[in-house]
Amino acid sequence: MALTDLKSLDKSSLREFMKNEGLPAFRAGQLLHWMYEKNITVIGEITEFSKTLRENLSQKAFISTLRVKEMLTSRDGTEKYLFELDDGENFIESVLIPADEDQANDDQNQKTKTPRLTLCISSQAGCAAGCLFCLTGKLGLIRNLTSREIVEQVLSVQRHITPRKITNIVFMGMGEPLNNIENVADALRILTELVHFSKRRITVSTSGIVPGILKLPEMAPMVNLAVSLNAATDETRNHIMPINRRYGLPSLMQALRQFPVPSRGRITFEYVLLGGINDSLADARSLVKLLHGIPSKVNLIPFNRHEGSEFHAPSAQKVLAFQKALLDSGCTAIIRKSKGADILAACGQLKAKYELKK
Ligand code: SAH
Ligand code: SF4
Repeated sequence: MALTDLKSLDKSSLREFMKNEGLPAFRAGQLLHWMYEKNITVIGEITEFSKTLRENLSQKAFISTLRVKEMLTSRDGTEKYLFELDDGENFIESVLIPADEDQANDDQNQKTKTPRLTLCISSQAGCAAGCLFCLTGKLGLIRNLTSREIVEQVLSVQRHITPRKITNIVFMGMGEPLNNIENVADALRILTELVHFSKRRITVSTSGIVPGILKLPEMAPMVNLAVSLNAATDETRNHIMPINRRYGLPSLMQALRQFPVPSRGRITFEYVLLGGINDSLADARSLVKLLHGIPSKVNLIPFNRHEGSEFHAPSAQKVLAFQKALLDSGCTAIIRKSKGADILAACGQLKAKYELKK
């Protein structure tokens, strides 16, 4: 008989499984605690269970993991993890990003003891959205990740880096989370309810899938939302993000105005600066107008080059001028330094081990 993967069972099926083994329901609770909070991968390590119980369970079940196939460390401390999925054919990447100096100071000001360590996780292998500037987008969609594969990126990397601790999670790796909303919502529930990760330290990033933005608050715990805006007019956005032809800026902004941001919370807007495309002062002015009335902060990300790309990053001077135009109009705007570019781990550079579509 095939062994049961205990990580593939939700709370109620796990209770059912235990019941069939003649075990009381509280054993399921203990098992969840060991698998998700203590992050163990072998039933034999559950010292709260008697030796006989551990042996009996091991004959029926196992705890699956996601294997780290390769790990690369950048000169700036960024780490890229390559995972081979269970099907043996597909790969995904997660990126671990230490705080840069200004963030570290921020954290110190907040008297946070643990330095910020952000894990950027994937929600799909590839992505169907096809944004012109993004390497993952060039792959097309390969497949959705299961909730287990999403959660396991966090657990596997955490095991790998202990005693360091992942402090923040962002869904900014491969894929469009809101195109895989059921599994992402399940993963968010597991991360907050079983792993006990604070929902205030989780951010879901979307290219602007309007129905998903409207549904997310009722499907999942209240996490932070980031929107990859990248253009402030439909004309430019249609050109660089085909998804905008389906969900244009008026409907996107209307959905965001309805989004229940937690008190004092803000929606983050990612804005990849592409030289000559969306980096003019007129673009900055359109952006200010568009965000008017929305509690927001803007992350400016100078384009990260990849091979064969038609785009280029604006000069440092232009980036600063764009930021100044936003700041002068009362917007919060931060220039994000590129991290992990030397190991192809920077924003939009993830493509794992796939051949690009011609
Ligand atoms: N699909 C979601 C989650 C992925 S986040 C989303 O798009 O929001 C990936 C982020 O990297 C997005 O903000 C995207 O705009 C940005 N990005 C993509 N390609 C990039 C590149 N070449 N240089 C800089 N940022 C890029
Ligand atoms: Fe997909 Fe996001 Fe890349 Fe666009 S930027 S192709 S939505 S991963």
